[in-house]
Amino acid sequence: MTVEQADILFVDHAGVLGGAELSLADIATHFRARGRVLLLEAGPFEALLRARGVSVSVSESELGTIKKTSRLPGPRAIASALRAAASIARAAHGARLVYCNSPKSFLLAALAGLASGRPLIWHMRDIISPAHFSAVNRGVLRIAARVSGVIVIANSQATADAWVAAGGDRSRVHVVHNGIDPAPFDLLHASAGHEMRALLGVPANAFVVGSFSRLHPWKGHRVLFDALDSLPGIHALVVGGALFSGELEYEQELRARADAPPLAGRTWVLGARHDIPALMAACDVVVHSSVLPEPFGRVVVEAQLAGRP
Ligand code: UDP
Repeated sequence: MTVEQADILFVDHAGVLGGAELSLADIATHFRARGRVLLLEAGPFEALLRARGVSVSVSESELGTIKKTSRLPGPRAIASALRAAASIARAAHGARLVYCNSPKSFLLAALAGLASGRPLIWHMRDIISPAHFSAVNRGVLRIAARVSGVIVIANSQATADAWVAAGGDRSRVHVVHNGIDPAPFDLLHASAGHEMRALLGVPANAFVVGSFSRLHPWKGHRVLFDALDSLPGIHALVVGGALFSGELEYEQELRARADAPPLAGRTWVLGARHDIPALMAACDVVVHSSVLPEPFGRVVVEAQLAGRP
């Protein structure tokens, strides 16, 4: 498909595979005959989309994080943002609408929209609250939403309510929960969990809790590790990678803690994995320990699909 034939241009700033990207992968796969994806960073997300037959292009733009920083952007950041907005405007040529999958891609698409004039959808997968976003960034998002007339799809009522509390227009927000394909969980054979334990070297009779999330402090691994400190018989699988810059130190901290007493020998930090259903089957319980409000929490639904409390 050429750019001109696309009805929907999906835009995501991330090239890594977080929950937002996995959800977009399902939507873009469904619309692959009518849409294409523009990513602002290279990475495994591009390969996943291609493997699913989705038309995808990458325009790298060296954008920093926008979440909690209150600093105003410097000249280099402004130049990068303008380049990214220009690539979105070019890619939007021929599209009927531009669908943004993150706050950053929304801001850039709103800027691009000044030139391209395409209607915007922002699939909001973040809680836009003071805990996650600075006052400056909440203000910029609010103004961009007003000026662009964007329609917001919120992935939960909590996400919608936080946006309205941040000054968003409730009449332009629609709550649509993430759909998660049950097939990979339903198709597992009965002994998949036992086989996974044997592969990992986890004792067959151990009581195992599993944590499934990217490695970021707000996902609350420290809370889980504190609990494990005082529960000597309990084993743990910690699944997920450090996706974004600044998270590597946190990963090192968790690995060091898992390798030392009292957790050594019963805590496995496995990194990012693609076999989540089999890993969940190897657990007795899945723990979700986020210390800030979770916008949706795909892993909670996945644990239910895996039949694990
Ligand atoms: N996930 C994965 N591999 C990992 C860790 C997590 O594929 O090693 C998946 C997990 O199964 C879930 C998603 O990443 O589908 C995380 O989504 P969630 O909404 O829970 O958190 P987010 O990353 O969006 O904050």
